[in-house]
Amino acid sequence: MIQVERLWNRLMELSQIGKQPSGGVTRFSFTKVEQRAKQLVASYMEEAGMQVREDAVGNLIGRRDGRRADLPAVLIGSHIDTVPHGGKFDGALGVLAGIEVAQTLNEQQIELDHPIEVIAFTDEEGSRFGLGMIGSRAIAGTLTLEQLQQVDQDGITIWEAMEQSGLDPQNIGEAKREPSTVKAYVELHIEQGRVLEKEGLPAGVVSGIAGPYWTKWNISGEAGHAGATPMDGRKDPLMAATEIMQFMEEQAKKHPATVATVGQISVKPGGVNVIPGEVEFTLDLRAIDEAIRDAVETNIKATAEQVCLKRDVVLNIEHLQRIKPVPCSNSIQEVIREACRKTGVEPITLPSGAGHDGMQFNEWPIGMIFIRSKDGISHNPAEWSSKEDCGKGTKILYETVLALASE
Ligand SMILES: [Zn+2]
Repeated sequence: MIQVERLWNRLMELSQIGKQPSGGVTRFSFTKVEQRAKQLVASYMEEAGMQVREDAVGNLIGRRDGRRADLPAVLIGSHIDTVPHGGKFDGALGVLAGIEVAQTLNEQQIELDHPIEVIAFTDEEGSRFGLGMIGSRAIAGTLTLEQLQQVDQDGITIWEAMEQSGLDPQNIGEAKREPSTVKAYVELHIEQGRVLEKEGLPAGVVSGIAGPYWTKWNISGEAGHAGATPMDGRKDPLMAATEIMQFMEEQAKKHPATVATVGQISVKPGGVNVIPGEVEFTLDLRAIDEAIRDAVETNIKATAEQVCLKRDVVLNIEHLQRIKPVPCSNSIQEVIREACRKTGVEPITLPSGAGHDGMQFNEWPIGMIFIRSKDGISHNPAEWSSKEDCGKGTKILYETVLALASE
């Protein structure tokens, strides 16, 4: 069966590569550190009896053949790059759990109908170039040569970084997977939130990956003397903004799996004794159901217009980016629920607020398993999931793969 000690030892060994004095781990894509991490993970894949290759964009892929070579593969993936001073679990756990599943299948001498492939995707986080999900985009066939012109802090393009690590960027098209060669994609990942911890459960079934919709809001009114201007007749854009923000929060709370965040705000001219003349703030609105997100957006805009009319200020909304939410396949969710029951875990369903590689795949069904995160902390050296939870999650992944890879 799943050997939790082996999984844990590998997780700790991998976390030594790129370890910082802060206790965090920094592994950026196309660097020497990432190369060393990939070599180590490749050696685990070999121990697990897999055929190992690196594709045109640097995705590390371990394959275990099925009984029938003509059947499409079940892909199991995650990433081994990190944010600066990131944790030991984000990404790495999913890759190592996939390898543990393959190794267990070998040790049990279980032959599956479908091939399985464990993938360590290139640059999921986007910490170096601000793009992210480079490997999964390439597999989906959506990575473009223009995107390879994005630069890191030192002005090095993705293109150049790929060349420096021995890859030919002109060949990225070769990494694309034909949909007919893939049956499904599954990923195990830490939750990076507190839902499972609150529920007292080690793992859960992901319903979908929220798509962020970013807008910049500008409200202009009339600056004035804080002492000499009576409350009646003010055109205060900040007061309008606070009303609108309150409504944003109410709307997000009212709708399932929806979150709204104002992360930036600036007030002009910004004097302690000056009524603001202009306010600018951002909204990050996410939901896993696009129809719900659209409805919330419509409600917020309608109310915002009323508020601005009432307060005699002018509203302008700029669109920054709009990413579609990606639902997880209902049938794979059902397979994971069954796998949870077999593992003795009550299957609860929860959304993913954060993005993951599976978002890139529209051509085949995806599913995700979340593991409990201590205090919901992630992208931080304090990121933690217990050995026991990692073991249970991997057992759920094992049962899921067993079901998906059988005819
Ligand atoms: Zn991750």
